[in-house]
Amino acid sequence: MQDGNGAAGDCRADDASRAEQEALAGEQVRERMSRVKHKLLVLSGKGGVGKSTVAVNLALGLVLSGFRVGLVDIDIHGPSVPTMLGLQNAKPLSEGGTIVPVSMGENFKVMSIGFFLRSDRDAVIWRGPLKFSAIRQFLKDVEWGDLDYLIVDSPPGTGDEPLSICQLLPGIDGAVVVTTPQDVSVVDVRRCITFCKELKVPVLGIIENMAGLECPHCGEHIDVFKAGGGGKLSREAGVPLLGSIPIDPRIVHASDSGASFMQRHADSPAAKVFGAVVDKILDGVEGKRSTPEKKVEGDLQVFPERAEARLPHTISYSSKDKRMRIGIPTAGGKLCMHFGHCEKFALVDVEDDKIIGTNFAEPPEHQPGVYPRWLSGEGVKLVIVSGMGQRAISLFEQAGVKVLVGAPTLEPEEVVRQYLAGTLQAGGNICDH
Ligand code: ADP
Repeated sequence: MQDGNGAAGDCRADDASRAEQEALAGEQVRERMSRVKHKLLVLSGKGGVGKSTVAVNLALGLVLSGFRVGLVDIDIHGPSVPTMLGLQNAKPLSEGGTIVPVSMGENFKVMSIGFFLRSDRDAVIWRGPLKFSAIRQFLKDVEWGDLDYLIVDSPPGTGDEPLSICQLLPGIDGAVVVTTPQDVSVVDVRRCITFCKELKVPVLGIIENMAGLECPHCGEHIDVFKAGGGGKLSREAGVPLLGSIPIDPRIVHASDSGASFMQRHADSPAAKVFGAVVDKILDGVEGKRSTPEKKVEGDLQVFPERAEARLPHTISYSSKDKRMRIGIPTAGGKLCMHFGHCEKFALVDVEDDKIIGTNFAEPPEHQPGVYPRWLSGEGVKLVIVSGMGQRAISLFEQAGVKVLVGAPTLEPEEVVRQYLAGTLQAGGNICDH
């Protein structure tokens, strides 16, 4: 009996402490999100209609208009934002319990579940509660700072993730719903609109994507997926049609190569529609058009070429560094998980993107600060490791040696070859001490 009471008492205590933790987390989300002026969701009824394309281009459009923008990709099963922005190799940094998002220029911060996957082939099999806590972490623990707009690229449909974000994100200004013109897509969008209404999230409007194609040969307009589905739905649901974006093969090319379609093809009909949609959103959200606090002129350098996201832990080799020496801790001839317990360091010399030689050197006894000084003395400019604690990373950086974490346990020359080719899957630091 006593045991039973004791267990019940423990359960009550557990429940109370869980409730306190939940309340605290909610408070932390509210506090962080209080620095974000406007929050927009991009939704779609089904996949493949161009939702992420719209989210990315809306974000870029707002950045190009001079606003401070955050883009958060919560598509846990198919995060495509990193690829679309050329950030496959970028990794956010973790600093004192917070996550520093990937910055593209001064005004654009990006966070995606894709940054945490070691490979595109990683299956993310998460159930509802885990998704909820990952999404909450993106809102609560990411250093978004002061933003004018936070754009959320939500997975298609009306499942766990859109529900979580609607429950978690305070004061959503509205949702933009993306569809293609054909009936099957439109039916799913109706469900999305009902979902928003039930959750009291205003629908700012519908974007009809892949609405026809201008024939590149004769200029004739071809309605590939029927015509007018978005317009019909907008009238039926009583929500504005924000724009109809035509099919443009350059969108696919830009998305796949991580280039900015909005910037590269500013004069194309599709980019003009994106621009007009941005204007309508600004009008709709702000009531009257506001101007950004600090307009950044000229080329924002927001859109680095592939694999050049400037992150402390994502160092890309540039052929300007004609020669460099890369250090890799090894055990049994392969990169070893714990650099402090390695048998030898492989010192791989690189010139003009090619490996010109590799030496194996025995390290001195492992003490804090010894490896950075020793490797720096050996002329090493970069170490590629599996995991490393923050303190050790700082010591390396103080010694003028950059650190790339999260590399797989391959032979050192293979690690360097993949690194030079830009295909090395790295960045997830597995060490947190
Ligand atoms: P979703 O997020 O809805 O799954 P994506 O944004 O990933 O869809 O787009 C799916 C594919 O369609 C991508 O390859 C993208 O480049 C392409 N795409 C999107 N919109 C257009 C368009 N208007 N014209 C041509 N291709 C497009």
